[in-house]
Amino acid sequence: MTAPLVPAPLPHSVTVDLGGRTALVTGAAGGIGRACALRLAAAGAKVRAVDRDAAGLEELAARGAGLGGTVESVVLDLTDLDAAEQAAAGTDILVNNAGLQLVRPIEEFPPEVFHTVLTVMLEAPFRLIRGALPHMYGQGWGRIVNLSSVHGLRASAFKSAYVSAKHGLEGLSKTAALEGAPHGVTSNCVNPGYVRTPLVERQISDQAAAHGIPEEQVLTEVLLKDAALKRLVEPHEVAEAVAYLCTPQASFITGTSLALDGGWTAH
Ligand code: NAD
Repeated sequence: MTAPLVPAPLPHSVTVDLGGRTALVTGAAGGIGRACALRLAAAGAKVRAVDRDAAGLEELAARGAGLGGTVESVVLDLTDLDAAEQAAAGTDILVNNAGLQLVRPIEEFPPEVFHTVLTVMLEAPFRLIRGALPHMYGQGWGRIVNLSSVHGLRASAFKSAYVSAKHGLEGLSKTAALEGAPHGVTSNCVNPGYVRTPLVERQISDQAAAHGIPEEQVLTEVLLKDAALKRLVEPHEVAEAVAYLCTPQASFITGTSLALDGGWTAH
């Protein structure tokens, strides 16, 4: 009997009480960010949901109403780095999640897109951490969770900007872990394989063109080629790992990278 391609919905695996905590989640209108925002709100957190997609944030806030905590929308383009740093002031939990992807060979990769990817996925997290640390250090407690990827640990062809940004994020996360340790602040990466989100759906046609194969073969021959588990990860599974890293039981876990990659990096 083979494992199902989409796992049945499960109850939360982690009991986490974040009552009284403020959590900032970037990219909260997207697939993984939305799941993280809702998961942390369900744990009682006051969630500051940041995204440039105002309509997506509105939908999220409506969905978040009635959970244990609250969801407040902050419409912000993270390429405005000063605004990003200011938005992070006073948060107890920071989830650096916003991201974007372009699949192109290096010689065809637009330099301005490379610059934007590095700005949103590496420089903005640095500025957000910078903005969040004074409050975290002041109270002797903080949680930084960086949505990295298998591509923070492994490269794939045609993803130069994304792989560069994620490898940089791994270094930033580990540095924050070393500096934050004496202040009760942990910093970790979560490293999913391919998650069922708009970001993945949008790259199917580009992957087909870059690899010269039909779109219907992209999932099995490109995206899941190196994974032992031949299915996409669900956003709520990633959010559960993020919630776990915010528990008191995870206080000794810092500077690490938690792979949810279906065995990809076991190779
Ligand atoms: P998504 O496209 O569904 O969501 C990304 C969100 O980021 C969007 O809501 C978008 O509006 C926001 N965003 C992008 N640029 C922004 C900017 N300049 N300012 C403000 N917001 C901005 O993507 P996702 O799949 O949910 O990815 C979330 C994170 O998880 C990313 O960092 C991604 O690299 C990482 N990740 C995704 C996968 C996957 O398979 N989907 C796998 C591993 C890691």
